[in-house]
Amino acid sequence: MTDLRIVGGELVPPAGGRRHLLSVADLTREDLERLLSTARSFARSQERETKKLPTLRGRLVVNLFYESSTRTASSFELAAKRLSADTLTVKSSGSSVDKGESLKDTTLTLSAYDPDVIVIRHPEAGAAELVSRHTGAHVVNAGDGKHQHPTQALLDLYTMCEAFGRLDGLRVAIVGDVLHSRVARSLVQALDLVGAESILVGPPTLVPTGLAPVSHDIAAIRDADVVYVLRMQRERMLAGANFVPSLREYSDLWGITPARLRDGQRVMHPGPMNRGVEIESSVADSRASLVVDQVRAGLVVRMAVLYDLLTAGPVALEAEVGVA
Ligand code: ASP
Repeated sequence: MTDLRIVGGELVPPAGGRRHLLSVADLTREDLERLLSTARSFARSQERETKKLPTLRGRLVVNLFYESSTRTASSFELAAKRLSADTLTVKSSGSSVDKGESLKDTTLTLSAYDPDVIVIRHPEAGAAELVSRHTGAHVVNAGDGKHQHPTQALLDLYTMCEAFGRLDGLRVAIVGDVLHSRVARSLVQALDLVGAESILVGPPTLVPTGLAPVSHDIAAIRDADVVYVLRMQRERMLAGANFVPSLREYSDLWGITPARLRDGQRVMHPGPMNRGVEIESSVADSRASLVVDQVRAGLVVRMAVLYDLLTAGPVALEAEVGVA
């Protein structure tokens, strides 16, 4: 996390500033491992009949969403509730954003309630960083344009680690519209941090160079342990720009079908899936698919992020949750 330091096993907040989670680049390997281990403890707490923990009672988590979301918005809200925090969800449509209020003014307005955390999703890169400059709350980036989506990368690593029992040396092929994907940018950095390998696979128009090794041959996915499928993010493509001749052609050349996979490979997708375009239904619903596991991981990983930002770390967690 930004400016997070661990000294003698203790979290030490930065002098004069709150900790934020704006980008995977904010995390050290130690941070990442601590967050995954905290998430594992929360996963055990969620197997009980009574799932609510008193940990963040009296705290306020504001969810500020300027872009549509199903999984991220619902899991942040549920994560805060499972930790007994109050939640306030503000969506751009139906709020004063419709009347032209700026992100800065909206942040100042919501900060008047003295929130502990602001979770922000926005179509522009840099929006979460801007919010962090105008609030006393901890800020979590829940997706800013095509820039970053750090909690998605954390839940993806959690899911891979549960499925394979390790992350080190894992080979992940990220397939599709990497160009417009904040998920891919965050995931490549996170995989690198834990010693896993990524390869970006897709047509030259949708796969930028310089992030990770690239292949323009779909056969390259056969060497991977995980095939990570991306959606064609049309909302981020400039009007009139054509990145593929047609969705039909894209699907024929790059769609993930049973025939393109080999035994033992697992398939992931951040959602929402466009069945029949980037992934065939028979793959999405197959035993190879980890898509539902990813959603489940989203809850416990976001509980871990809120917990980590607002409390003293793993020692307190053992006492609170009652699991080591
Ligand atoms: N849900 C992910 C995101 O918000 C992926 C996607 O929309 O395709 O970036």
